[in-house]
Amino acid sequence: MLEMNHISKSFGNLEVLKDISIQVDQGKVIVVIGPSGSGKTTLLRCLNVLERPEKGEVTIDDQTIDFSEKLDKKTIRELRKQTGMVFQNYNLFPHLSVIENIMEGPVTVQKIDKQQAREVAMRLLEKVGLGDKADVYPHQLSGGQQQRVGIARAMAIDPKVMLFDEPTSALDPELIGEVLQVMKDLAEEGMTMVVVTHEMNFAKDVADEVVFMDEGYIVERGAPVDVFENPKEERTKRFLNLIQ
Ligand code: ADP
Repeated sequence: MLEMNHISKSFGNLEVLKDISIQVDQGKVIVVIGPSGSGKTTLLRCLNVLERPEKGEVTIDDQTIDFSEKLDKKTIRELRKQTGMVFQNYNLFPHLSVIENIMEGPVTVQKIDKQQAREVAMRLLEKVGLGDKADVYPHQLSGGQQQRVGIARAMAIDPKVMLFDEPTSALDPELIGEVLQVMKDLAEEGMTMVVVTHEMNFAKDVADEVVFMDEGYIVERGAPVDVFENPKEERTKRFLNLIQ
């Protein structure tokens, strides 16, 4: 469903991703962990071409972008439509109501009929447990509720893959669980997901594969039970000792 092959990305002289390859099968959940600055966010942003790597390929479903070739805007747009991105700080539009936030992508990008977009948005809002909040504005919601709207919004374009960039790290501890539960539900329904998170219990419970990154490399990857209980690499051991 999703493949990243030999991706390298630099900012100036700083090489942030060094020949990264990952594959995610349909319906699987990959959790990416690693210290701050290791390249996790950049990896996600390359997956939906918010960043342009110098080298490598990204394939989503049957669409491939080869970054060593000249990029065609239409291909980028098409590929981006296959991914829903959830950001650390929700990135909701403050001047739009909750339902308008969710309808925005389908109506303006996909040119879907407003009434139809509203019905889909309502269904998604109910799915994330916020059916009664359609007409309020983001500032009237808790952080956890805003992030659940963020997830509904990312789902509204009917993506093939969902990308989560530290979706709970801006939340107060008591609000984290409700967001993780929505993500867990999505995983159980068979959504293909790449999740950058520091929530190790979520990784243990939900991930099919855990990828540990450090300094732009994938240091270790494997089933959660192997990476967490029996890490092979010293760097992984050190990181896990620090956070557990
Ligand atoms: P992580 O998500 O693991 O914390 P990031 O992917 O955000 O790591 O960042 C990796 C490295 O790339 C960091 O050193 C960061 O400062 C640098 N970086 C990220 N985005 C940019 C940018 N737009 N311009 C310059 N440097 C960047």
